[in-house]
Amino acid sequence: MRIAIFPGSFDPVTNGHLDIIRRASPLFDRLLVAVLVHPTKPGTLPLPTRADMIRRVTAGLPNVDVEQFTGLLATYAASRGAQVIIRGLRSAGDFAYEAPMAWLNSGLAKEIETLFMLTSPQYAYITSSAVREIAALGGDISHLAPKALQNEIYAACKPK
Ligand code: ADP
Repeated sequence: MRIAIFPGSFDPVTNGHLDIIRRASPLFDRLLVAVLVHPTKPGTLPLPTRADMIRRVTAGLPNVDVEQFTGLLATYAASRGAQVIIRGLRSAGDFAYEAPMAWLNSGLAKEIETLFMLTSPQYAYITSSAVREIAALGGDISHLAPKALQNEIYAACKPK
């Protein structure tokens, strides 16, 4: 079994994330999308909502599963029998952040490879934080995040 993990905050999942999931899933027997429970950054959308949103928009991809995880990614990946961590790259800025993370993870678990997938150009500028900010101001997010999730994203990002 070739198992890959795609970890992230997914606060919320965007069209850029979904593109990586769609392109990575045929390359592996199983792709586990792992929603990171960050100890110091609670984020905006509740974690179960983020995971549920990804589940709904990946329902047509039978080898994709979604979980929440906490703790060290290398430990989590090993516990799931994963050989590969997938990360998406949008820019040189992403690379500067991601390369040391990949080196740190390989120091923790040599048998796990980090594979970088370049974003498709039409999604290169999309970030979850932009989606949240535009949604909070009532702007159009239909080109940024899955349409099926839009009402929920507006509701979750509405200023309290
Ligand atoms: P994190 O807090 O772990 O960076 P994110 O949810 O922001 O979590 O991103 C998860 C992964 O998806 C990261 O590898 C990130 O580079 C990638 N990613 C985010 N947005 C895009 C996009 N528009 N296109 C491709 N990959 C993306």
